[in-house]
Amino acid sequence: MSTKINLNRVEMPKQLPEERKNNFQEVALGYTEAQAEYEANRCIQCKKPKCIEGCPVGVEIPNFIRALREKDMFEAVLSLKRKNSLPGVCGRVCPQEVQCECRCVLGKKGAPVAIGRLERYVADWERAQEKCPRCEILPPTGKKVAIVGSGPAGLTSAADLARMGHGVTILEALHEAGGVLVYGIPEFRLPKSIVKAEVDYVRSLGADLKLDAVVGRQVGVKELLESGYDAVFLGIGAGAPRFLNVPGENLGGIYSANEYLTRVNLMKAYKFPEYDTPIRRGKRVAVVGGGNVAMDAARCALRLGADEVHVVYRRSREEMPARLEEVENAMEEGIIFDFLTNPTKFEGDERGMVKAMQVVEMELGEPDASGRRSPKVKKGSEHTVDVDTVIIAVGTIPNPLIASSTPELKTTKWGTLVVDERFRTTMEGVWAGGDITSGGATVISAMGAGKAAAKDMDEWLRKDGKWS
Ligand code: FAD
Ligand code: SF4
Repeated sequence: MSTKINLNRVEMPKQLPEERKNNFQEVALGYTEAQAEYEANRCIQCKKPKCIEGCPVGVEIPNFIRALREKDMFEAVLSLKRKNSLPGVCGRVCPQEVQCECRCVLGKKGAPVAIGRLERYVADWERAQEKCPRCEILPPTGKKVAIVGSGPAGLTSAADLARMGHGVTILEALHEAGGVLVYGIPEFRLPKSIVKAEVDYVRSLGADLKLDAVVGRQVGVKELLESGYDAVFLGIGAGAPRFLNVPGENLGGIYSANEYLTRVNLMKAYKFPEYDTPIRRGKRVAVVGGGNVAMDAARCALRLGADEVHVVYRRSREEMPARLEEVENAMEEGIIFDFLTNPTKFEGDERGMVKAMQVVEMELGEPDASGRRSPKVKKGSEHTVDVDTVIIAVGTIPNPLIASSTPELKTTKWGTLVVDERFRTTMEGVWAGGDITSGGATVISAMGAGKAAAKDMDEWLRKDGKWS
């Protein structure tokens, strides 16, 4: 290794914007072996690595990077997987820039080590092998746990509990496992094959997966505990859409981002013409919102053939919650950003389909409770723009099915489940974590919650401890 600190990171090779905006293949192409080796050599192997503190699941970052540059790839894989069962997912969609990478010491003077890209490289290397070692699994405890939901929270909790020797069954309402990773995040950011491989890994640890199993309808949470499960983890996400509540929002051609992305991903509109999924292929599309979901919806609309896609956001670029990298990707592809703009009304044609959107311009006032400057309407700024498709991506709320069918579970005023610092709900034997307790957040924060809950469940299951 060179002793001189190298402050420039290796850029991620990507499909060119002109090409990629016409296909659903992955935008980022991944490092080559030489690029990964070069980037790994930038890590100075800090004695007290700050990067680990920024990772909600505590990945042994310097260890996996050291193993990678020593070409001990099995050890690199195990170093990652000891803490993170979904490295191929996290290496692609985690906001590393505000987590591990923003703590990297190299960031003080130059570019931090590209930890996420190296994580992706190791995970992709493993997938290409015929066989790879698996993390240690402890002897069976005889205890049984039901995990409800197969998103990142449920999968992490399932993997950790299976490795701790407990019998694990995952119950998933949909016909595919992965939660938002399969029905929300598009193929060009996170290929379905990667999610499937990582779900298969969790199953290979001993977790049983039951699809099309809707808890709260086919079976209740109480019934799960009465039917032989010693504990239950609820990782059911926050998948119900929020709307703007403005006139005309029920017109045809106006989708929630959840519905639109589910049609693209789970119902496979992205595989046209192989799948002829019913979805409006608008020519003039407006996507309302400024988060990752809005970026994904806008970039899908472009790939489905739109001439013009506008992201309509009521604050400025600085306040956008979407990952910087994805905003840049969207801009490169030609998505138009209408900042400081807010829809107030939708107008329809004689068939009840949306044809125009009335908007107002906004200006930013004082910071609100979230710390962001609150947008105020600019007087006299109303105007109308022509649209034929609108996608509303202004956040999600929890689906109330489980809470409403389980009176023992207390909820907050936002509909999220009440949990304590150990992720215990108000119902004995039931834990919860991920978006269902935090509201819409990130993959890695959901995984962090699943991991912390699994640790507490394990202690409780082994000791038959007191609930509170
Ligand atoms: P989910 O992923 O929502 O999984 C919950 C699972 O529970 C689902 O499979 C659901 O079908 C199942 N379920 C629900 N109710 C029941 C029931 N009654 N019975 C059985 N199963 C049930 N985060 C990032 O970090 N980076 C990104 O780039 C990013 N992009 C995103 C893009 C989109 C379009 C969306 C929607 C979100 C994005 N996020 C991103 C956020 C991230 O995906 C979520 O925070 C994360 O998936 C939450 O994980 P979870 O396990 O709590 O819930
Ligand atoms: Fe390597 Fe940066 Fe972590 Fe230090 S802080 S160990 S340089 S990745």
